[in-house]
Amino acid sequence: MQLHHRFAALGDDFFLHTRVQPLAEQRLVEGNADLANFLGVDLKDDSVKAVLSGAIDIPETLSMVYAGHQFGGFTPRLGDGRGVLLGEVQAADGSFHDLHVKGAGQTPYSRMGDGRAVLRSCIREYLCSEAMHGLGIATTRALALFDSREAVYREKPEPGAMLVRTARTHIRFGHFEYFFAHQRYDNLDQLIDYTLANLFPQCATARDPIEAMFIDIVERTAVMIANWQAVGFQHGVMNTDNFSIIGDTIDYGPFGFMEDYDPKWICNHSDYEGRYAFQNQPSIGLWNLNCLARCFSRRLSREQLINALQQYEPKLQSTYDQLMAAKLGLSSSKDVESLLDGLWTILRQEQMDYTLFWRKLCACSRIDNSPVLDEVIDRQRLQIWLEQYWERRDDSRDQHAVALEMYAVNPKFILRNYLAHHAIEAAEQGNYLPMRQLLKVLATPFDEHSDSEQLAKRPPDWGRKLEVSCSS
Ligand code: AMP
Ligand code: MG
Ligand code: MG
Repeated sequence: MQLHHRFAALGDDFFLHTRVQPLAEQRLVEGNADLANFLGVDLKDDSVKAVLSGAIDIPETLSMVYAGHQFGGFTPRLGDGRGVLLGEVQAADGSFHDLHVKGAGQTPYSRMGDGRAVLRSCIREYLCSEAMHGLGIATTRALALFDSREAVYREKPEPGAMLVRTARTHIRFGHFEYFFAHQRYDNLDQLIDYTLANLFPQCATARDPIEAMFIDIVERTAVMIANWQAVGFQHGVMNTDNFSIIGDTIDYGPFGFMEDYDPKWICNHSDYEGRYAFQNQPSIGLWNLNCLARCFSRRLSREQLINALQQYEPKLQSTYDQLMAAKLGLSSSKDVESLLDGLWTILRQEQMDYTLFWRKLCACSRIDNSPVLDEVIDRQRLQIWLEQYWERRDDSRDQHAVALEMYAVNPKFILRNYLAHHAIEAAEQGNYLPMRQLLKVLATPFDEHSDSEQLAKRPPDWGRKLEVSCSS
């Protein structure tokens, strides 16, 4: 495995050298064969395992420094408090991918933390990032999971673990905020130029490459959040240090997939004010971009920044409308929101499972709406909405073909909290089979997987009340 160290070449204003500190009796228990294959990383090779697990010391490995707005307040210095960037590998298509180890032990950025991650949170991140990838949503990915016999203390002692994560980059909004806030403008310029050259090369030929890049960042963020809203994903901690500069979903903490439809839903039990509630995600995306815009204010004019930020809402709206039109099987996204408005009230009052509703709608036809009607109490009210809906459907198209298109965009499987919980409990007993079975369906969540029917079901009662907090 050949590691490249392009970020390290920026110089030590950007990081401190750190190394992965292995856990007691750690074992590689889960490897992502498809991803490993794409990256050309042989997870069975002992020397590769030694690099990932920290058994071999590489002088260039590092922890990045960044800042961030956390729940609205600015923290001038954060950084990888438990992460080590090993370097990049180059995939067969020429693209570079970071190998980042989470839970690697204390770093100079650990503050009060122990630098560790628990098995529970590593499994949640592994499952969810792969679920997002399966759903076609931009995300960091999980390459390998190490478990161990070392206890890590959260509310109670839990098994410690390490996750090897990959991404085109781990540069966050918070990286730019760090150098801007500390008035280290030469470093800020270096970072902007590095990002442009390595992550936005397509902008290099634009009249103003940095403006083109900033617009692209705005649009990618909008597209990412439109996708979250369409699939019912809630991130949970949308701090600017958890926002990737390339629009990847990053940092899976107290996230959740919506089950009973509720726009006010707050998945993070530590988010007392609901700042990151489901329905707030679009506006928080813009809030975060405003923080980033300030950091570009030395390279772009006020007008350029305002113009770029103004593209956020229309981009998010049009992407969302297209995604929702596709879920509905409509050929045009025109006025799709007015049709949806009526539906949201029904879904909320019926406490309908968001994912199941869409999947059942795929099975409806003009003459038989029983798949969705059977799910509600007030059939008549839904029937009225369905009449409006069928009026909007295109008669001229082959209805079977439309149904197939709908199945291809309305997932049968999402990462339900109780399923993750079940996989974690088994893994804590050394049984990784439930995790593997989940990964298998989440990789192709639009397929039927008739042997895994139970993984598509609504949660049992115990599975509805699970709380998820920031502790990880
Ligand atoms: P997060 O809430 O996961 O985005 O983390 C915010 C900051 O806290 C980042 O700088 C993390 O690296 C750091 N952090 C989170 N957990 C730990 C931990 N157990 N030990 C050290 N630093 C941590
Ligand atoms: Mg974070
Ligand atoms: Mg985190």
